[in-house]
Amino acid sequence: MDHIWSPWRMKYIRRHKSPKGCVFCDAVKMEDGDKNLIITRGELAYVIMNRYPYTSGHIMIVPFKHVGKFENMDQETSAEIMFLTRQGIIALEKIYQPDGYNMGANLGASAGAGIESHIHFHLVPRWGGDTNFMSSIGGIRVLPEDLTETLEHLKDAWPKETYPSK
Ligand SMILES: [Zn+2]
Repeated sequence: MDHIWSPWRMKYIRRHKSPKGCVFCDAVKMEDGDKNLIITRGELAYVIMNRYPYTSGHIMIVPFKHVGKFENMDQETSAEIMFLTRQGIIALEKIYQPDGYNMGANLGASAGAGIESHIHFHLVPRWGGDTNFMSSIGGIRVLPEDLTETLEHLKDAWPKETYPSK
């Protein structure tokens, strides 16, 4: 995903380098809405919008547990993350019909993780030519839709099925 030129993300990375607190743990403590940008909560993981998205509809699937390493994530959490990712694609298809998606995690700072202490999985909708669009805007954060609006759309479009409990 690094080939998408997105200078606003530097502000994000710098802001969250502070050793105190964790944005993903803090978001969970807040009431869901415009402030924390949480779309839905599952049993072991939740879905949140990226405040500094690569493209409109860029969401993240995050375990509730503060786990940094992929190999330390338990099987139940991994399974629910896949379930929520699939729901995310269903919702994004309904709203935006993107041409494709990038999905995955950056593990470790060298791999591009902005917050390495709490694992999170990106789901980024892609459109043909979005890279050109992004790089032509000269450092100004321009997205076709604001975050609050995207949050509402995603909440409406999110599938109603809940994760099958044990
Ligand atoms: Zn955390």
